[in-house]
Amino acid sequence: IKSKLPNVGTTIFTVMSALATEYKAVNLGQGFPDYPMSEELTAKVAEAMKNGHNQYAPMPGLIGLRESLAEKVEFLYKTKVNPDTEITITPGGTYAIYSSLTTILQPGDEVILFEPAYDSYIPNIEINGAKAVPLPLTYPDYKIDWDLVRASITIKTKAILINSPHNPTGSVLDQNDIAELKNTVAGTDIFIVSDEVYEHLIYDGLPHESMLKHPDLFARSFVNFSFGKTYHCTGWKLGYCIAPAAFTKEFRKVHQFNCFSCFTPAQVALAEYLKNKDAYLSLPRFMQQKRDYFIELMKQTKFDLLNTSGSYFVCASYGRISDESDKDLAIRLSKEAGVATIPLSAFYHNHKDDKVVRFCFSKQNKTLQQAVERLIKI
Ligand code: PMP
Ligand code: GLN
Repeated sequence: IKSKLPNVGTTIFTVMSALATEYKAVNLGQGFPDYPMSEELTAKVAEAMKNGHNQYAPMPGLIGLRESLAEKVEFLYKTKVNPDTEITITPGGTYAIYSSLTTILQPGDEVILFEPAYDSYIPNIEINGAKAVPLPLTYPDYKIDWDLVRASITIKTKAILINSPHNPTGSVLDQNDIAELKNTVAGTDIFIVSDEVYEHLIYDGLPHESMLKHPDLFARSFVNFSFGKTYHCTGWKLGYCIAPAAFTKEFRKVHQFNCFSCFTPAQVALAEYLKNKDAYLSLPRFMQQKRDYFIELMKQTKFDLLNTSGSYFVCASYGRISDESDKDLAIRLSKEAGVATIPLSAFYHNHKDDKVVRFCFSKQNKTLQQAVERLIKI
């Protein structure tokens, strides 16, 4: 078989979680919570199943859920989106991003993105016959160099892919970035594909600069989200894409022949549960406590933590521990210390190695404590 993705191996998340299982390591690698999700929400899903909501949902998603999402968007971002024509429920955020890219990309197009980058982006671009143009974020702040962005735009640039709060570094776009983004795309036909799956996981009182907040940016955007991150249920693989009606029309052409529709009972449950504003408004505080708890504990180790203002993640420089490659260190940490992490080079196309690994702190305090007790010995 001729591979469509010849440069792709097994995703680092699978590799590191397998190592974690093999060596009974505390898994701070792959990003998922180890604490339970809302019982009220799981009860609502069970109830929906008992009440017979077990057949295909409509292709764009249950209208009740899309209406609840439109209300939420208006409340949070002061933007009116049309639930009928601008919101599509998808099987997860990753799929929503893939479908956004597939909707717009023609062979030979270029997509600017920023490294380190979530590992699905580049394969998603390349499988469409397009070219990824990865630009490095600054180190150690992981900010976008907007002059470099402008210098990298060509007539083939079809889209800029942005992700805030950012995986793996936890950096977030600020108002200056938004102004730069506006200036950069003004007068062009460049699309924005925005990965906002961590919209509620943002700390220190910072606002989330959603594309939905800025009408001139939203007019050229596909904005992608994940219920898995918001409701502590990554295994649900349920998300959505919000895009202007003309874009959504094309997006749904891709979606309808790829998966058609998503798990109905969860959509019934979420349509109602979404009205509970506290469930998402309390998230920054809840997760910031975890971040701060982990940062405090890690002071006992020789890892130097970098700043993180959002997401599930904090990056750590290990220059004081060893000069081995980040992959070698991550493997050794799993085997010898019993803690799984993700080496940051896995998020680079150009295999940059700043000697940094990523820790996931969306865990119970006792899990974080156990991990740090092991890391102190390294
Ligand atoms: N984008 C980023 C940056 C992520 O970290 C994740 C979580 N894995 C996703 C997208 C995908 O979310 P989902 O699990 O809903 O596909
Ligand atoms: N988003 C998660 C992470 O960055 C994992 C997603 C996956 O396993 N594909 O860890």
